[in-house]
Amino acid sequence: MRHFPIFLDLRGRRVIVCGGGEVACAKLRTLMRSEARVSVFCPDPHPAIEALAAEGRLVLQRRWLAEGDALCAAIVYGANGAAAEDARIAGIGRRAGALVNIVDDLDGSDFISPALVDRDPVVVAIGTEGTAPVLARSIKAETEARLPQALGPLARIAAEFRKRVEALPPGRQRREFWARYFDHAGPSALATGGETAVRSRLPELLVEARVGTADPGRVSLVGAGPGDPDLLTLRARQRLDAADVIVHDRLVPQPVLDLARREALFIDVGKRAGGPSWGQDAIDRLLVVHARRGAHVVRLKSGDPGVFGRLDEELDALDAAGIDWEVVPGVTAAAAAAAGIGRSLTRRDRNSAVSFVTAEDRNGQAEQDWRALAAPGHVTAVYMGLRSARFLQGRLLLHGADPALPVTAVENAGRPARRIIETTLSQLPEALARGGVAGPAILFLGLAPRASEAVPLPAVAEA
Ligand code: SAH
Repeated sequence: MRHFPIFLDLRGRRVIVCGGGEVACAKLRTLMRSEARVSVFCPDPHPAIEALAAEGRLVLQRRWLAEGDALCAAIVYGANGAAAEDARIAGIGRRAGALVNIVDDLDGSDFISPALVDRDPVVVAIGTEGTAPVLARSIKAETEARLPQALGPLARIAAEFRKRVEALPPGRQRREFWARYFDHAGPSALATGGETAVRSRLPELLVEARVGTADPGRVSLVGAGPGDPDLLTLRARQRLDAADVIVHDRLVPQPVLDLARREALFIDVGKRAGGPSWGQDAIDRLLVVHARRGAHVVRLKSGDPGVFGRLDEELDALDAAGIDWEVVPGVTAAAAAAAGIGRSLTRRDRNSAVSFVTAEDRNGQAEQDWRALAAPGHVTAVYMGLRSARFLQGRLLLHGADPALPVTAVENAGRPARRIIETTLSQLPEALARGGVAGPAILFLGLAPRASEAVPLPAVAEA
């Protein structure tokens, strides 16, 4: 982020606009909504600017900006569209300690102006660092459509009432009070009886919130999918939006966490090499403790929570503590990996079953029904298989698998960094080592990519 967004308090501050044409007029239209004291410098201003001056809404100086004019100004805008004059203005502004903005000149400016959706006091500012004005316009249009016009008055009345809501305990109860007000109660009161009705509805809502029995905490065990935020379900997004506490694994990447409520408490229970490691018991206790305090806890697990995610153990702990829970399914890594190689996990006349196996369990390398997995035509998705590739290979060959069995490793499935490595059972460990596969990966046994995106190793005919 080169340009850091802030909202500047311009109440009573001086703002100078140099220029008197269309560009200056456009800038003034926005500035007139602020509480700044605006001065315009221009020998030959547009009639609209003269009109604003006549109404006393700005001070008009019919001359060019001179040294000393910008004293105590917060912002100086150069809106002449003439490079030499704008550079002179920038110098005067900066020497006076003001922030300088030259319209349509990114590098000549100390800040850039975002596109605005104005529901004062709720203001949405949209910036693209100057890279994609078209995109900013379309986001603005969508946001304009999404935010009710009534948001402004509702927010203003809410501000008057904010102190009284401190009677509610901070946290979820207050949030739920405001959610109820903004989502339903406020808009419907405004629609039926205007601002007066909103003002009389608010104390009622407060009483209802105080006598209403406080919700007990609960835990949502949510599948975060393979890593790309696009592959979250809508329900997962809603839970992330509402969470008080988020307990997540190492495999849940930052872009997914960025979608969660910013005020939520984030707890990383992922095991890291050398770092502190959370035992399953400690994780179970953590969920129970926070839910007992009334928090809405989101236990975020990569992929689907019910696939190699120790889900049952956490549900048992919550049941034992009498805490409400729900499971929100997610896209498991094997599904994302199969999509990434353009293959289906099952196929009529080839395999009517598919196995999801882990190569590791609490005892180390996991034993499986190797004969079944080695059978011709069978498809297996191996989770946590990288470290055990040689073991897998040995067991499968021992149980009669074809050395030429196609094997596909999909690293970082469902993420931008996805890589596909196509090999055969006989070459599996070497191919993984050569490919430097280090990220999370699914190994498909008995499945080759539809269209090879990988650098093909010695060609393998598909079984
Ligand atoms: N519950 C998860 C699996 C957790 S076990 C799910 O449903 O996907 C962790 C293993 O999942 C990793 O060792 C790796 O084999 C696999 N995995 C997780 N995310 C992955 C991804 N983005 N790409 C490939 N494999 C992934």
